[in-house]
Amino acid sequence: MPSKTIKEIQDLILKGNANCENVVKHYLSSINEQKHLNAFIEVFEEEAIERAKEIDLKINEGKAGKLAGVVVGIKDVLCYKDHSITCGSGILKGFKSLYTATAVQKLIDEDAIIIGILNCDEFAMGSSNETSVYGPTLNAIDNKRVPGGSSGGSAVAVQAGLCTVSLGTDTGGSVRQPAGFCKVWGFKPTYSRISRYGLASYASSFDCIGTFTNCAEDAALLLEIMAGEDDKDSTSSSSKKESYELEEEQSKTYKVAYLAEALNHEGLSPQVRNVFQDTLSKLEEAGNQVEEIEFDLLPYLLPTYYILTTAEASSNLSRYDGVRFGHRSDHAENPEILYKKSRTEGFGPEVQKRIMLGTFVLSADYFDAYYVKALKARKLIRNKTLEILKKYDFIITPTAPTEPFKLGEKNKDQMAMYLGDIFTVQASLCGLPSLNIPFSNKDSGLPVGVQITGKPFNEKELLQAGNFFSKL
Ligand code: GLN
Repeated sequence: MPSKTIKEIQDLILKGNANCENVVKHYLSSINEQKHLNAFIEVFEEEAIERAKEIDLKINEGKAGKLAGVVVGIKDVLCYKDHSITCGSGILKGFKSLYTATAVQKLIDEDAIIIGILNCDEFAMGSSNETSVYGPTLNAIDNKRVPGGSSGGSAVAVQAGLCTVSLGTDTGGSVRQPAGFCKVWGFKPTYSRISRYGLASYASSFDCIGTFTNCAEDAALLLEIMAGEDDKDSTSSSSKKESYELEEEQSKTYKVAYLAEALNHEGLSPQVRNVFQDTLSKLEEAGNQVEEIEFDLLPYLLPTYYILTTAEASSNLSRYDGVRFGHRSDHAENPEILYKKSRTEGFGPEVQKRIMLGTFVLSADYFDAYYVKALKARKLIRNKTLEILKKYDFIITPTAPTEPFKLGEKNKDQMAMYLGDIFTVQASLCGLPSLNIPFSNKDSGLPVGVQITGKPFNEKELLQAGNFFSKL
């Protein structure tokens, strides 16, 4: 089945050239053939086929929803009632969701078929999918390379044609960076646009559910379905729900800013710089106004992000205590030892490190020096970024400073790993919608993503522009 986008699949079904059952079986055999990629943690084989049969009946009766025929994989941090959720961690092994995430439920209500659970970095902490307790997911373009993270399984599932679209989460780039590394569309909406109910929290003031798709139109459709206020998430936005349908022809040109500090950054690889500069030239040739601007807060982005997210994580992850969820140590003589042993045995090293860092920055003696200061820095970064977006439609940067790196390459140098998030964390700190547009390096053939970030709640324009930019 060469068709890849939602529209292509639905057209096949409409013309009678396929039905949901065939579509699901096609993906199941692709998943089987490409098991070595380690994208899926669990596949709901029989259940997905049963559901496909039900939806085929609905199609015949003319009662099918907007996502009939669409097969979805979900990241292992999203709740799906009675199905396992482990956050890529040993601490939740064997745990099953007690309810379904609002975003997932909305897809199901439109007749999407959930085919399985996708691998990810433990508790979404990582940039390479190497911190997962299930082992790394491999990049389908080159199996020696990482797919990015933390939603690496979600990116590879779409890249390798194992499902039509997938859900990931983006706290500091975990949708956009793996999408960039796998050459697919990766979209993070404005913070609060999609309910976080049923998303296992990493850093609650950053966490967003995002999508991996084969085109911008699919991202727009999924957003239209998942967006909206939710009584179960008090931070979800009440701003008006709109139709995100994209126009086919570009009717306007845009004002786009790129950051001088990003282009001149010492960590930016020459290959990525070339692809990025090439994109800027094409944008200009097509009549868009492309300008260099200064953003002297760039060096503060990563420290601010890592102080605030570790602080929030240390608090959020305190619930995994060996009593209420998942793993419980067998050898505990008293409650305190039970907590300590369960957490020591259940969490991997990256998560333990972040919990300790977060606890440190929140501790009484250091609270003002680190946590409060980082909150102030976040405000400055947001104000300055919004000022830029008053003058420009979008900020454009490479999605990541390098091409997908080799497995193991950055494990010994954590700073190099964290540096990979330099361009994605700005939108996360500011709660802005941001999109990875898939490109690649013509010489090496390796994926290189270009990221555009837009004004709050202006997702439609962002997806619209991204779609045009990808075709230049
Ligand atoms: N790589 C970043 C981190 O490790 C982003 C993770 C994410 O967005 N979930 O924190």
